[in-house]
Amino acid sequence: MKETRSTCPYCGVGCGVLIESQGSQITGVRGDPEHPANFGRLCTKGQTLHLTASAPITLHQRLRTPQLHGQDVSWASALDTAADRFTAIAREHGPDALGFYISGQLLTEDYYVFNKLAKGLFGTNNVDTNSRLCMSSAVAGYKLTLGADAPPTCYDDVKHAQLLFITGSNVAWAHPVLYRRIEDARLANPLMKVIAVDPRRTETAEQADLHLPLLPGTDVALFNGMLHLLLWDGQIDARYIAAHTEGFEALKAIVRDSTPAVTARITGLKEEAIVQAARWWGESAATLSLYCQGLNQSSSGTAKNAALINLHLATGQIGKPGAGPFSLTGQPNAMGGREVGGMANLLSAHRDLGKAEDRAEVARLWGLPDVPARPGKTAVEMFQAAADGEIKALWIACTNPAQSLPDQVTVKRALERAEFVVLQEAFASTATARHAHLLLPASSWGEKDGTVTNSERRISRVRAAVPAPGQARADWAIVCDFARRVEQRLRPGAPTLFPYADAESIWNEHRESTRGRDLDITGLSWDRLDAGAQCWPFPEGATQGQERLYADGTFPTANGRACFAAVTYRAVAEPRDARFPFALNTGRLRDQWHGMSRTGTLGRLFGHTPEPTLDLHPQDVLRLRLADGDLATVRSRRGALVLPVRGTDSVAPTQAFVAMHWGDETLLGGVNTLTSPAVCPQSRQPELKHAAVQIARADLPWRLVALAWCNEAQALQLRAALRPLFDGFGYASCVPFGRERSGVLFRAAAAEPAPAELQAQIATLFGLQGADTLSYADPQRGQRRSLRLSRKGGDQHLEAMLLAGDTRAEGWIAPLLQQSLPVQAHGRFLLAPGATPPGPATLRSPQVCSCFDVSERAIVQTLAACAGPPAARLAALQAELHCGTQCGSCRPALKRLVDLQPQPG
Ligand code: SF4
Repeated sequence: MKETRSTCPYCGVGCGVLIESQGSQITGVRGDPEHPANFGRLCTKGQTLHLTASAPITLHQRLRTPQLHGQDVSWASALDTAADRFTAIAREHGPDALGFYISGQLLTEDYYVFNKLAKGLFGTNNVDTNSRLCMSSAVAGYKLTLGADAPPTCYDDVKHAQLLFITGSNVAWAHPVLYRRIEDARLANPLMKVIAVDPRRTETAEQADLHLPLLPGTDVALFNGMLHLLLWDGQIDARYIAAHTEGFEALKAIVRDSTPAVTARITGLKEEAIVQAARWWGESAATLSLYCQGLNQSSSGTAKNAALINLHLATGQIGKPGAGPFSLTGQPNAMGGREVGGMANLLSAHRDLGKAEDRAEVARLWGLPDVPARPGKTAVEMFQAAADGEIKALWIACTNPAQSLPDQVTVKRALERAEFVVLQEAFASTATARHAHLLLPASSWGEKDGTVTNSERRISRVRAAVPAPGQARADWAIVCDFARRVEQRLRPGAPTLFPYADAESIWNEHRESTRGRDLDITGLSWDRLDAGAQCWPFPEGATQGQERLYADGTFPTANGRACFAAVTYRAVAEPRDARFPFALNTGRLRDQWHGMSRTGTLGRLFGHTPEPTLDLHPQDVLRLRLADGDLATVRSRRGALVLPVRGTDSVAPTQAFVAMHWGDETLLGGVNTLTSPAVCPQSRQPELKHAAVQIARADLPWRLVALAWCNEAQALQLRAALRPLFDGFGYASCVPFGRERSGVLFRAAAAEPAPAELQAQIATLFGLQGADTLSYADPQRGQRRSLRLSRKGGDQHLEAMLLAGDTRAEGWIAPLLQQSLPVQAHGRFLLAPGATPPGPATLRSPQVCSCFDVSERAIVQTLAACAGPPAARLAALQAELHCGTQCGSCRPALKRLVDLQPQPG
């Protein structure tokens, strides 16, 4: 057994991991106790990483050979074809007819060569990334106010803060290991206050001392209103403002009218709550803001970021331990991508495409006469240009735009219209793979070598534990091989711009490009990085990276002063109206990652949230004459989607929530059919967190549900075979379930009974056709019930089931299957439509703890016998069930249940 030190590929916390492997198989993973981002901790996603790299998944989900129009081809043939097509299109239509859409999940070195390929070799700035959907508003906000794209804080600040101002971030779910630090800090300092600003009552909001459930998109009004109060109460830091900033008078004039009454009217908050938040901010010795997509994914994302930073500057809450604005990156290497300029408006080492001297410096570094000045197309613009026929060739790497970009109708049109679409990807199962002409197999987590940078500017090494499967190759190597072929066609005989032998040689070139810049890492060597992760800057002569910035009040602006941004509140791009009266929000689930190409392969990660839902306030569920589980049609100005309704008071009235993960692979249509392509004018980041929608009952009375246990490989094959059948229904979803075994759950609904052949096809896929299958069918009425049984010892068990037409029996038959209960006692009821057996099995209650598979029901039952103060009850609960004692991701939920459950007796 070998252990390899590397980094988790999911969120921006950037946890260090130790990968266990035997031969070419990854066999385990644990948190790296020495990594300063997590000190050994991992969340549910991180600690199941090895399971998503298992042999069946590698065999069935991974791309293993290059494929051109569905046929296996050699690497040489694949890259020659790509070089021919890209150079021909560039020659005929100009380089701006090419688009490169890359990913915050690529390593810094991959990003670097992509950027050089597009801007240096082809001469187009049409290279953008899914980080545009994630962090570009944070980038623009930092640059506008502090002068550089550099979060000034670090994770250690959490324990020094007196007030944590968490805004637009469900950190308990999206950055769980960071949330463990928050729990530790609150335990160590009971006086610490936590304010959570979020339209939803998330687990982060539930655990806060003050929750501000503002109306979607009104953050700037709240922050300006708080500044008004801080000014009014004399709680600004006039000395800091005078010594280290400029532009305060203009901002002061703007917030003069942001009275509590005005702020309350715009934000929907109570005046007292706004006053309380401002007072706590003003009284705090150290205020740390944590924020993420709630600020960034907005048509006023830059203004929201800047308004929050204004508060820090006005109160001098920056440049000291426990204080400052801290943007949490969604992706593992959104920061690294920014460092090497991997976006349409950036150049290497935080240089600006718009500045002639910056372009000249980069051209000099790369040994080129120039780099193009024309602004490149950002993510949404790039796919719009492809849909309009302006961009003719797309190269997509390590991302799934057919799932994750807003306005999927336009994205699909772009992928269909483009003359040549290359997808460089590890997984063959993504929605985008269906649209690619050329598929290039890339290596994935556990197989890659390079670096990533996390939210606190800490650069970590990523190391390969095993070889990539089949012919899959490192992303940087694919780019360099392709680039050298393009060079033969575009600049024959010239020395190559891509002479790299390994990731280290690329990183060395990047390091040199940072000399004298705000992110200078010229003092950091690959060997030093090998010894441990380090924050930037780390200039020549330094002995370690700098964790906190701006301690001396000097900012990277022309005069060294930070700039207040005179920003005003602007409503969301698509306000609600009588026709579209609901505000749709999207966000993350606790145990899933992005488009689920990796986490979506594991049934155990669906225990917490088993199926897609449309979350609505219970009052709205009633008002729409719906009930939990009913199907509703959600319609925006761009498209419609059918979803099962779930009533929850975590969502405010007239608002709705759908998790961002449900793409076309698991849910017919996918959530981004609904979302809006409106962008922030400065950051060009789309408003994924708000769309105006209408909601009504879906008239789809005919239902089908099918479940089966399979082995892991069969489960993957079954899901792949079911996906093309989605289009035959008005609603369809397909998800895995199970922990020790692999199961598949398929659900569909239609206005009329599905054709008998389609029903038979589904039954066959679920193995419901042999001698061990009991069946009842009434084709006239569209009714069908098929059950496959197996005998274990003296008991009979259900292995697969399909109910069509009247599916109400799912409530008692599905639990028999999913809980592997004996069924002989239910014998004569199993095939009797409309019958309910005595003492039916009950549906499993929602899973709370993923590590120990503990359900909410078990927790509630145990708490019924636990007396005492909350901490003692929690300890007794954990001693009994062990829930929350491993990764800790469920701890906020446990605390909520402890608070809700009455004391015994
Ligand atoms: Fe990975 Fe979880 Fe750490 Fe994020 S918090 S880096 S998902 S282990």
